Amino acid sequence: HSRHFLCRLAISTVRPRCFASTLVLAEQIDGGKLAPVTLNTLTAASQLKQDVDCIIFGSEKTSETANQLQKFNNLNIKKIFVAENAAFKGLLSESITPVLLDLQKKNNYTHILGGSSTFTKGILPRLAALLDVQPISDIIKIVDKDQFMRFIYAGNAILKLKSNDKIKIMTVRGTAFEAAKQGDGSGEVKIEKLESSVKNDLSEFVTREVTQSERPELSSARIIFSGGRALKSKENFKLLYDLADLFPGQATVGASRAAVDAGYCANDLQIGQTGKIVAPELYIAIGISGAIQHIAGMKDSKVIVAINKDGDAPIFAMADYGLTGDLFKILPELTEKLKKK
Ligand code: FAD
Repeated sequence: HSRHFLCRLAISTVRPRCFASTLVLAEQIDGGKLAPVTLNTLTAASQLKQDVDCIIFGSEKTSETANQLQKFNNLNIKKIFVAENAAFKGLLSESITPVLLDLQKKNNYTHILGGSSTFTKGILPRLAALLDVQPISDIIKIVDKDQFMRFIYAGNAILKLKSNDKIKIMTVRGTAFEAAKQGDGSGEVKIEKLESSVKNDLSEFVTREVTQSERPELSSARIIFSGGRALKSKENFKLLYDLADLFPGQATVGASRAAVDAGYCANDLQIGQTGKIVAPELYIAIGISGAIQHIAGMKDSKVIVAINKDGDAPIFAMADYGLTGDLFKILPELTEKLKKK
């Protein structure tokens, strides 16, 4: 009874939060768009079965992103906070974290979630340190409000962990949760502008260089042609681009770390433990041996095809379809056949 009274008291003095609730750190990408991983994070948040608030940071076009988020009225989202400020250009962790900390102090969320990405990797551990809780990274399953699953040992084992912290700060592996589907537009999701002064003497945004590509992002491509050390040169990687370009808007090119380290392609193409985690509908590993660190980044792909001249290469143990042979013979032939289709 007295707890009830305390709650009511808190409502009238501070903020109406005596119950469990979740904050989702939504990610805005260029041009006022919602990052795809935010949709996976929303699904994870909805599995906690409690009220959800979202927050978006950006230097411009945040209301466009908020409008997209507002369509997910089916997911128990109560409020979308929009924090727009020129100082958020480049989404620096040092600028964003104090604002998040203030919001947390006001609203006492029990769970704070963000998609696993470079954006959240800088912010959420900082926030966790300031709140003196243990961050939980890259969860693949929500068991209940305290228990979560994540991979350990480069994806070779799954850990079920129980957190006793009052606030769970987590990043969510996008490929482990379906992307949230929009609601019917009915019901109200409020958008609230968050006026915040930003103080950041620690870092400054200078410039950002982005690889321009007509091809889809690795994380959203339906088909990935991935090349390994066997490609032997940057020029030979063209064999993969030619294949990908036969599926405009759907296919792109990935790589093993050996190929990236050898300079055959840009390092943002790397797939694996220390690269990107992908789960396309079709993953074609070409001249890739299948080291565990590579497998860790692509094993959730729906269909895996391996092309390798060594019939004993470990990648074949993972593959749904295998082709033993020389890639320099197979790829031109494959390209020709696909062109005729
Ligand atoms: P290789 O292992 O050299 O394999 C080349 C394959 O090509 C062989 O199987 C060979 O049979 C085949 N081949 C050769 N010629 C032909 C041909 N003409 N036609 C067809 N097949 C041919 N690796 C990653 O990929 N991503 C990571 O994120 C990653 N993170 C790592 C993190 C740590 C801490 C460590 C220690 C390693 C990491 N690695 C990672 C490296 C990983 O261990 C392997 O070294 C790497 O994946 C090997 O790349 P590869 O398969 O292209 O090369």
